[in-house]
Amino acid sequence: MSRQSSIALEGGSDRDVLLEVKHLKKYYPVTSGFFKRKVADVKAVDDISLRLKKGEIFGLVGESGCGKTTAGRTILRLTDATEGKIVFDGEDITRLKGAKLRKARKDFQMIFQDPYASLNSKMMVGHIVDEPIRNYMSKSHKELKGEVKKLLKRVGLRSEDYYKYPHEFSGGQRQRIGIARALALNPKLIIADEPVSALDVSIQSQVLNLLRDLQDEFKLTYLFIAHDLSVVKHMSDRIGVMYLGNMVEVGDKEAIYREPLHPYTQALTSAIPNPNPLRKKERIILKGDVPSPQHPPTGCVFHTRCPVAMPKCKEVVPQLKEVKPNRHAACLLYG
Ligand code: SF4
Repeated sequence: MSRQSSIALEGGSDRDVLLEVKHLKKYYPVTSGFFKRKVADVKAVDDISLRLKKGEIFGLVGESGCGKTTAGRTILRLTDATEGKIVFDGEDITRLKGAKLRKARKDFQMIFQDPYASLNSKMMVGHIVDEPIRNYMSKSHKELKGEVKKLLKRVGLRSEDYYKYPHEFSGGQRQRIGIARALALNPKLIIADEPVSALDVSIQSQVLNLLRDLQDEFKLTYLFIAHDLSVVKHMSDRIGVMYLGNMVEVGDKEAIYREPLHPYTQALTSAIPNPNPLRKKERIILKGDVPSPQHPPTGCVFHTRCPVAMPKCKEVVPQLKEVKPNRHAACLLYG
């Protein structure tokens, strides 16, 4: 049975929606023997649904290995979905191939976690940033150069940086190059995958503020992926919490932090330091490790670690459903 009965998950009317993901699954086959017979699946993403409104920042959060990066890569069609549907700006892009996929890709870009690995170290910064434009448009060298220099300045670099190479920059500056490259085609959607987790804490807020400013200016919609709840809180309008390939809670940022509904979200939010020392909250420490996505637990996938698990949690798969206005949770505590 599908884990997610509700696929509306807010995100406004159809006209306002930029991205709709319905029952997305991404399984990786595990093979064995000489003939490489499939013996199992690693269920990296196991049925997630979400809707992003135009201009919204949706934070996707969860521990490492929960499937959030795979979800982002599958949505951007960097890897094929096993099942489900991805509708981008009204077009079903789930199975697009060749020229049609290439055309659609112009409108969605990714910012990667590791700003060094994602940039070609042998290319001059100017050419790293203008490469997407060259791939899609024919512009004169002068025009291209002018545009790229303008972009570099907009992300906080200097126009002379056009002539340098990635190794001549700090981590934060390299991430700015990655951001300039992602902006080059004026995309509608940016999936930012842990964009600040490789950076010094002192630099993180500068890059986050830059992303926020660019959102207004370029009318961007972000799917913002992170394991750090404080970072997601700083950035997002709505938040989706993932555990072991499943979406376990979705709601407005304020509501999720004020009153987390799912026991997993309660544990995650309990780890965020409270700036008000008078409002102490108890830290919930989860026991055990995240189970393997190759052998996910039966029933509720969180039952092996849930502090309030009930006997039926081993048997029954909880559906992600609206348990309060605009609040969705997949937990049997809510009926
Ligand atoms: Fe915990 Fe049961 Fe809710 Fe799963 S369904 S989160 S095990 S209470």
